[in-house]
Amino acid sequence: MDADLETQVCVLQSHMDGMISRAQKNEEMLKRFQDLEMRLLSLNSLRELIEHINDDAQLAFNLDSLSLVLADEDDEIKQFLTEDGFRFDEYPNIIFLSKGGVFKDELGLSQRILLGAANDVLPQVFWPANKTAPKTVAIIPLVRRGIYLGCMVFGSEDEGRFQVEMATYFLERLGKVMSVCMENTLNYEQLRRTSLFDTLTGVNNRRFFEQRMDEEILRCLRTGDSLSCLFIDIDFFKAVNDNFGHQVGDLALRHVAETLRGQLRANDILARYGGEEFVAILPTASEKKGIEVAERMRQSVANASIEMAGESSLALTVSIGVSTFVVAEPGLSKPLGASQLIDVADKALYQAKKSGRNLVRSGGEVKSCSVVDKRAE
Ligand code: GH3
Ligand code: MG
Ligand code: MG
Repeated sequence: MDADLETQVCVLQSHMDGMISRAQKNEEMLKRFQDLEMRLLSLNSLRELIEHINDDAQLAFNLDSLSLVLADEDDEIKQFLTEDGFRFDEYPNIIFLSKGGVFKDELGLSQRILLGAANDVLPQVFWPANKTAPKTVAIIPLVRRGIYLGCMVFGSEDEGRFQVEMATYFLERLGKVMSVCMENTLNYEQLRRTSLFDTLTGVNNRRFFEQRMDEEILRCLRTGDSLSCLFIDIDFFKAVNDNFGHQVGDLALRHVAETLRGQLRANDILARYGGEEFVAILPTASEKKGIEVAERMRQSVANASIEMAGESSLALTVSIGVSTFVVAEPGLSKPLGASQLIDVADKALYQAKKSGRNLVRSGGEVKSCSVVDKRAE
């Protein structure tokens, strides 16, 4: 082989090595990207989605920073995340975009990917998590059915990383996948909320209560803990509607729900059972504790009048019936129908009404029954 040919072969070989190395890098990138996509698509809640995009996208794309901007005009997303125990302080780079806020003006709600030097594309206000803005950024909009959901802002300390002319196929694709995931989890959270919460008062609804009551009773059977059930009814509520109209009636219902909730611990459950009736479950509460909490609730409603237009105010009271589930032999007792417990509380409530209203009455303890032959099984 002459020297010329040998040189050409060497050059070709080195080109080939370069191409193979680039192909391998692209394949690795594709694999990381597909893994990220698969994970995102398999998540079930908005909280998981936000946490994962934050942690995984930084790794998959080898980023120095990431900010997630979420359009949240009615604070609904914040509310969902709060209910799900999201730690806002651990994610200062998740930015909530409220109506007419600075971000809207600054970002212009762009629907296409923006690339370039961070200071040209974004103001410092976008980097609360970092002291200084990264050198270059890619802003990937999240849009679904024409609705702007927010954007992801990828940051790099490498000046050559995100350049205006670079190909954006992966980023666009990730933006689309993330948008679909956002839409899905948001729809799911909204559905879950309407199926478990009462829309007028914001406390849980009867369906949620019945489900939880069965679960709590089973838990008592395992642990031997007792549980108290409170049945709460607003006194003379019909007169509120008759005298002030239904809108004031609705306002009063919300007010009472809020006042009652204020007397409960985080683990207690408050639900609207129907009309102007509420029910509370107090896990681990003895009869004495149940009566004590009911009495606190009664007093708090009686002391919290509703300010109305003009000088007038509306004073309401509630009557409360208490029942308490007590487990005789943990692990060896039969489940009790939730309706039995409610029935005892309801009868106690009737006694409170009969005795003059604005009162608490207890129907006493309801004991679990032993499972016959359980020891012989
Ligand atoms: P008592 O002290 O015996 O409980 O008297 P009450 O007037 O509270 O009892 P009653 O059951 O006769 O009336 C309940 C009223 O609650 C009737 C209904 O108009 C009203 N109500 C039920 N649901 C709603 C609601 O969602 N909004 C409004 N505004 N009123 C409601
Ligand atoms: Mg009633
Ligand atoms: Mg009533």
